Amino acid sequence: MQKLVYCTVRLKPELRSKLEKYARVFELGEESPAPDLAKVEVLMCGPITPQELDAMKNLELIQCVYAGVDALPWSHVREDVIVASNAGSNADAVAEHAFALLLAAAKRVVFFDSRIRGGNFEIVGESRMLHGRRICVLGLGAIGTRVAEIAKAFKMHVVGYGRSLRGAAPLDEFYTPDRVEDALRGCDYAVIALPLTKHTRGLINYQRLSLMRRDGILVNIGRAQIVVKEDLARFLRENPSFIYANDVWWSMQNPAEDSDVYSLPNTLSTPWVAGAASARETYEEMLRQAVENVVRYLRGEKPLNIVKHEDYR
Ligand code: NDP
Repeated sequence: MQKLVYCTVRLKPELRSKLEKYARVFELGEESPAPDLAKVEVLMCGPITPQELDAMKNLELIQCVYAGVDALPWSHVREDVIVASNAGSNADAVAEHAFALLLAAAKRVVFFDSRIRGGNFEIVGESRMLHGRRICVLGLGAIGTRVAEIAKAFKMHVVGYGRSLRGAAPLDEFYTPDRVEDALRGCDYAVIALPLTKHTRGLINYQRLSLMRRDGILVNIGRAQIVVKEDLARFLRENPSFIYANDVWWSMQNPAEDSDVYSLPNTLSTPWVAGAASARETYEEMLRQAVENVVRYLRGEKPLNIVKHEDYR
């Protein structure tokens, strides 16, 4: 008997047929009657409710469409269920976005553009160089590795912070999680490319922000909750030359509630568009890689990107 795959996202026919070689497939929103969730063995999903997960008594694999799996209702995921993230599926897009934020902040692109719209071409202040500056890359997975590569192309001094050196990130220095202070100390710039886990939540607090240069730039394309919001707001108020350049938000449902940060003059933000929402081609590539990973499992192979339950519980 073929396994039952339940997709909460819509697939193009060519992707669906890849799964149908090995399994029965149901996509949320399709016309045929919804399957009995108790019979679902593989779930390919974006957001999912605790009630739906509780109903999937035969679940073996959750394949997330997103690189981050922090939004899963983890207390409803059985311990024996394999959970695979979609890490790396949009790394190029997200790393490019990190540098768009960093360069826009360093070169004051938005500042000048908004003045020019009012007819003001006055040249004031100074831009910041990337060349030769010290950048800390927090998280050395697919995105962090790409960020480090781009930083090297700008001839920056690249400081890596991660659990292991499994990737091929071109680093000048490397620090493990017990040495986060050493990684941040004296940095001109930092890019957060970490997943949100119980170990990374609140990692960047007031004291750690204070280790960076006062005219530094912190780019966050990982998850907002890795930074302690109140500490950040205080640090930004006290250090007007420091810039927080950000794509991710604390209030997932209503980012407008994060106005205590984005209303400060030394922030530069985008509305969570680095990855899936950046472009159709990026989202389609994410779906393609998620489907390939499910196919791997259906063929009896080990899926890629299996996450550790204990990081999230
Ligand atoms: P990866 O899994 O490839 O990279 C994550 C890296 O972080 C891994 O090297 C992992 O190490 C490391 N890590 C995990 N926990 C810790 C820790 N406690 N201390 C130090 N390092 C740690 O994922 P991606 O690079 O593809 O994505 C990273 C994150 O970026 C996602 O989890 C998501 O939150 C965010 N993201 C944001 C997007 C956006 O639109 N803004 C889009 C896509 C992703 P190890 O290998 O040991 O587990």
